Amino acid sequence: MGQGLSCRSSEEQGFFSAVQFGDFETVKEILENNSSLIHLSTVYDRSSALHIAAANGQIEVLSLLLDRSVKPDLLNLHKQTPLMLAAMHGKISCVTKLIEAGANILMFDSVNGRTCLHYAAYYGHSDCLQLILSAARTSQVAASWGYSRFVNIRDGKGATPLHLAARQRRPECVHMLLDNGALVCASTSRYGFPGSTPLHLAARSGSLDCIRELLAWGADRLQRDASGRIPYMVALKNHHGACAALLNPSSAEPLVWPSPLKFISELNHEAKALLEHALMEANREREKTILKKTGYSLPSPSGSDSDIDNLSEASDTELCCICFDQVCTIEVQECGHRMCAQCTLALCCHNKPNPTTACPSVPLCPFCRSNIVRLVAARVKTGNDKDRDVNFTKPRKSWRSRNSSEGSSSFKGLSAIGSFGKMGRGSGRIAAENEWLDKPLTLDT
Ligand SMILES: [Zn+2]
Ligand SMILES: [Zn+2]
Repeated sequence: MGQGLSCRSSEEQGFFSAVQFGDFETVKEILENNSSLIHLSTVYDRSSALHIAAANGQIEVLSLLLDRSVKPDLLNLHKQTPLMLAAMHGKISCVTKLIEAGANILMFDSVNGRTCLHYAAYYGHSDCLQLILSAARTSQVAASWGYSRFVNIRDGKGATPLHLAARQRRPECVHMLLDNGALVCASTSRYGFPGSTPLHLAARSGSLDCIRELLAWGADRLQRDASGRIPYMVALKNHHGACAALLNPSSAEPLVWPSPLKFISELNHEAKALLEHALMEANREREKTILKKTGYSLPSPSGSDSDIDNLSEASDTELCCICFDQVCTIEVQECGHRMCAQCTLALCCHNKPNPTTACPSVPLCPFCRSNIVRLVAARVKTGNDKDRDVNFTKPRKSWRSRNSSEGSSSFKGLSAIGSFGKMGRGSGRIAAENEWLDKPLTLDT
């Protein structure tokens, strides 16, 4: 009998290792000889073959198992599902397949009470995070739980996925979660130091990129944890000098993404990317000033600078008529007036509603004062884009052409811009360009 057991276990061993290494033919062959193996789990942590395939990204084997009606939500010893393991290890194809097979995204393990969303955020697999979030929008989770509740789901110690991403230095996941409605100022219960916000945790891990994202989404530098510490003190204590400089409540405040505005949340992808880029650039300028004073220097972000250069080279035909510096990249609809992303952002930040007031005001087009219903990316003429020349012969709704038909009434709108300056709060590109405020206004006289 003993011999029988050891014989059996070596067969199991062979099966599990074939699953692990994705040896599709061997797995298939073993299952044809002994189909009951499909329901076996390991002695060590009661992982099923599906768990092993998911954790190792063996998509062919995983598909084979699912096709043979293995349930997607099997649990191991720690109550972890194959989906959690795939999210943990960043196995995107397995995450996709498991979700397609109906895996439940709302399962909690017994280790930390975490879901697959927590694990994707913790390990920084933003592609998996994106997939799970998309699944949450369309699955029953949204109906029964509500999407934003799912995004802010807490683990056993009260940490949301955003807390974990900030603690583990995962700026891409931080960005994605914020963009999907993660609460930037949520406090943990027991995770980290009790009462920590994502900003406290980013300060602790010393991630400038995470701190930058969180501040741009309105994280509060003055919020205290349960021991009364602000993020600045946490960064200092952990010897993250550059982070501390940005978190210092006495250093200039960053521009904040005006997420509560309805029209901003409904921006099309292209316009949103332009505005986000402008915001991050403005804040980087501000950071440089702050860090210069404190003797820290920032590594220059790769790639992003060259994009900007291309953009300015691409078209000097339509300069923004507010700042006379940047190219028009954003178009207001329905009126068709154009501005650069920086000026659009200043306009929106200017109108950032106070969270305590119920009704956010809609920003007005500075040229014609109509309500801004929608912002879209303006078509920019490029050297190698000859097709678009046709469009350029049509009358363009630029500030200049409008102005000729509407007379000086257009200028009146610009007085609204006079107050943009304070949004720069003495820092950043937009504030640095405060001199542009005078230019259009002096035209009026
Ligand atoms: Zn401008
Ligand atoms: Zn307009």
